[in-house]
Amino acid sequence: MSTQATRRPTIAVLATGGTIAGTRSPDIAGSYRAATVGVQDLIAAVPGLDELADVTGEQVLQIDSVNMDDAGMLTLARRTSQLLDSDDVDAVVITHGTDTLEETAYLLHLGLTSNKPVVFVGSMRPADALSADGPRNLRHAVAVAANPQARGKGVLVVMNDEIHTARDVTKSHTLNVAALRSPHGPLGYMVGDAPVFYRAPVRRHTWQTPFDLSALDGLPQVGVVYAHASMTTATVEALVDSGTAAIVHAGMGNGYVSEHISGSLMAARAAGVHIVRASRAASGSVVRNIAALDDANGWLVVDDQNPQKARLLIALAMTKTQDVGELQQMFWTY
Ligand code: GLU
Repeated sequence: MSTQATRRPTIAVLATGGTIAGTRSPDIAGSYRAATVGVQDLIAAVPGLDELADVTGEQVLQIDSVNMDDAGMLTLARRTSQLLDSDDVDAVVITHGTDTLEETAYLLHLGLTSNKPVVFVGSMRPADALSADGPRNLRHAVAVAANPQARGKGVLVVMNDEIHTARDVTKSHTLNVAALRSPHGPLGYMVGDAPVFYRAPVRRHTWQTPFDLSALDGLPQVGVVYAHASMTTATVEALVDSGTAAIVHAGMGNGYVSEHISGSLMAARAAGVHIVRASRAASGSVVRNIAALDDANGWLVVDDQNPQKARLLIALAMTKTQDVGELQQMFWTY
């Protein structure tokens, strides 16, 4: 066997906080604080990790992921890019709170330029809980990152013995350890330390997109409006007044817009704001010109992305073009 085949991979673990780094809070009964345990302790809590890879740890952020913002995501993306560019690093594992994990992972899935494995991991139970799921999930994330099959599949998310694509995964339960699910199912499963893949992402990602997060120092402002019966135009108008560049409308069913809201979205479009029709339904695609006159209105449809991910895609897309046709194509491509 060649030296290359037997060399243990070098994996950088970047920690950002979350429940995986959380500990029980002394001041609130039954509660805990996210983001209290440092990266070296997270790594030390996983027995035998050095059998899988040479692991280094770096604390990039230490936050509850509900406080993640575009600046934090771009800081993480820049550091990840630097490491992936280095010949000394074979893959990157990122620990992250599960509440916004899908957003950060999706942004990096769209805008990293490397084909080296990048694997996000979180946990639902804090580090000092009975049957904490963090150490097992972290071991699995490192095992996936170390495996050649993870290469070229974009950003992956590993939790609860499942391997998901960052494009599809979404938080679907508030408490259960099986909190992260994908509408089309996971790409594969862990069998011990072995990832077993059954599917691969077909939509373009990472090095296959025109985006490069390391060249960006911010994203355009995009707001999400959640539709409901008896909704008023106040949220749309407030977003337009605040200078938003696009509005993602999480509509009913196939992205429907109530008759009394349509006018405010048309006015927003006339003022130069892009309108993206998404759905508040948990799965399925929003089809162009079916539930609204998208061509006539100059609106966009999201395909099957959820509203919080659509926000990131339209923000990134607007760094390249303002053309409605080109923006729409991006929703159908990524
Ligand atoms: N709000 C916390 C976070 O996202 C808890 C969720 C978790 O990490 O599981 O960081």
